[in-house]
Amino acid sequence: GWARVAAALPARVGEREFETWLRALAPGACDGDELTLTLPSPFLRDWVRGHHGDLIESLVRAEMPGVARVIFGVAPRPGGAISGTRPAVAAASEAAIVQAAPSQQQAAATRSVTNDLAAPLDERYTFDSFVVGKPNEFAYACARRVAERPSSPGFNPLFLYGGVGLGKTHLMHAIGGELTRSGRVSVAYMSAEKFMYRFIAAIRSQSTMEFKEQLRSVDVLMIDDLQFLIGKESTQEEFFHTFNALVDAGKQIVVSSDKSPSDLSGIEDRLRTRLGCGMVADVHATTFELRMAILSAKANSAQVSVPPKVMEFLAHKITTNVRELEGALNRLIARAKLVGAPISIETVPEVLHDILRAHDRRLTIEEIQKRVAEHFHIRLTEMTSQRRARAVARPRQVAMYLAKQLTGRSLPEIGRRFGDRDHTTVMHAVTRVQQLMETDATFAEDVELLRRMLES
Ligand code: ADP
Ligand code: MG
Repeated sequence: GWARVAAALPARVGEREFETWLRALAPGACDGDELTLTLPSPFLRDWVRGHHGDLIESLVRAEMPGVARVIFGVAPRPGGAISGTRPAVAAASEAAIVQAAPSQQQAAATRSVTNDLAAPLDERYTFDSFVVGKPNEFAYACARRVAERPSSPGFNPLFLYGGVGLGKTHLMHAIGGELTRSGRVSVAYMSAEKFMYRFIAAIRSQSTMEFKEQLRSVDVLMIDDLQFLIGKESTQEEFFHTFNALVDAGKQIVVSSDKSPSDLSGIEDRLRTRLGCGMVADVHATTFELRMAILSAKANSAQVSVPPKVMEFLAHKITTNVRELEGALNRLIARAKLVGAPISIETVPEVLHDILRAHDRRLTIEEIQKRVAEHFHIRLTEMTSQRRARAVARPRQVAMYLAKQLTGRSLPEIGRRFGDRDHTTVMHAVTRVQQLMETDATFAEDVELLRRMLES
């Protein structure tokens, strides 16, 4: 029964995790094949369901035949406190606060804003180390503006949004670092997850007042990855109140998310509205040029020379996430240092084998046509046009050759996709390109580079 599930949990989640979050878990009603498990507060319930819901359900199913589903509910303990289940640490620190004089209490709360409330800032993430290009220049300008003059009308809150690995966290740390160094304002940066975690912990140790005071004592509050709060109503509620209190008191809020305010479904309307009413800045997907600039900046700061061909290759291959792009470059640098040989294009596929494979998708003929057209600076429509001028015919042949080499499509099919050409035309293109590659080294290198970029 339940006792066996409870006994198995500490080993599965770890003793500490169990003591902190799961100790108060109690079986409630069993209705048909549904078992309700209760926790003392909505926050704890959200947390436990979000982090251990699947595990608990699978343990319950295994140990309690007849139960098919677990529902997490809230059952406050008598008196509202979680007494008796609170860990010793929380009880002790609470006692310490009770003993402290009011003024000391205040000081302790303010200090801990930087000591334990907020996450530390990463000093490598500065405005200087951020490479600016078209896709991120607006977000960058907004971030700089907020760092220079926090709480300016029109820039509060600053809402940064965009895909994973495009520099949102970097910009937030840059703002925080700049303001912290200026020494004029207090800054708290934390992920939305941490915000929730801290809030739940405060409830457990009955110190929500301190938590709120700490939050409200900062000048700049930055919450990263706000989308984490989707569906976590009670934490949203708390954030909303904190948010309002801070903005009303003239404090700056900076928030990041992978979605725009209007796309944050699952976040309460009134919170979404308030989030969108300052400055909303979209960090767009990177372009090839920006990726090249980032790679060259990173190579520079590592004081390693990286052949342009290698950078081009990486910038073509790893397109969605700057972190992965960086990771690939770092690995090449590390390996070059290790073997004491310069980085070269030949070793890239071998060294980055796994990364590159993860970025593989099935190559289409359209993609080859597009890449080749870009490479030779001709229009994509020339791939299917009937023009015979060498300037367009040659790239078209290269694209046919690559389509044959890389897609496994038949000659007639490739011909059809290149403006209804005959299969003999494709065959001719393939032989012609092979001949040229044997006699013209530059041409061969070009085609090789294209192949590497397109290839798995
Ligand atoms: P996000 O928070 O948007 O998911 P991060 O800020 O964590 O992305 O960025 C991922 C990595 O890529 C970090 O190491 C960051 O320094 C780097 N990065 C992203 N964009 C840039 C840029 N424009 N210039 C320099 N580094 C960048
Ligand atoms: Mg981030």
